[in-house]
Amino acid sequence: MARNTGPVCRICRRLGDKLYLKGEKCFTPKCPFERRPYPPGQRSLRRRKVSDRGLQLREKQKGRAVYGVLERQFQRYYAEAARRHGITGDNLLKVLELRLDNVVYRLGFGQSRAQARQLVRDGHITVNGRKASTPSHVLKVNDGVGLTEKGQKTRFFESVREEIGGKEVPSWLKLDPANMTGQVVAEPVPEEVGAKFSTATIVEYYSR
Ligand code: SF4
Repeated sequence: MARNTGPVCRICRRLGDKLYLKGEKCFTPKCPFERRPYPPGQRSLRRRKVSDRGLQLREKQKGRAVYGVLERQFQRYYAEAARRHGITGDNLLKVLELRLDNVVYRLGFGQSRAQARQLVRDGHITVNGRKASTPSHVLKVNDGVGLTEKGQKTRFFESVREEIGGKEVPSWLKLDPANMTGQVVAEPVPEEVGAKFSTATIVEYYSR
């Protein structure tokens, strides 16, 4: 599946916010945004006035960057969110949170969504006991996530098991660190997500 493979930290700098796309590095002084919190490029220090449309676009780009989703797929998620009952922005966040790569990340199996996506692609993850290799797979309430036999034998997960012992996961997930399994026990709670972008502004962008 297609994905953005460009330099990740430039995305944070271009969009003007720390989006925490790289895992541990984001919490260290090595974070390029901490040292250069302005857009890349020689002319970037010049202040530019951004239109309302530009601000809406920026929020949408942030949402896409955080979840690693390309434009066409993001549009599909928006269409699905708008189709459902309730607040469209909240629905959008719920669909994004229920992506398999995001759930693997939220359970702590990967340090970032990008790493979680790779774990899925590499065939280490199961959904309801069956190998699942599509990171964009949207889970449902009661779906269970675990490791494949291949995953269980991987040294990487031995260290993950030790690290996630006391990990707090969102209330809509249940984690069993000893067995390296998790379950979606409810719909994601938008207030718990701590989104780095405004879903209401994204809705404005698409509903124009
Ligand atoms: Fe890079 Fe993370 Fe810093 Fe963003 S927050 S610039 S992804 S290190």
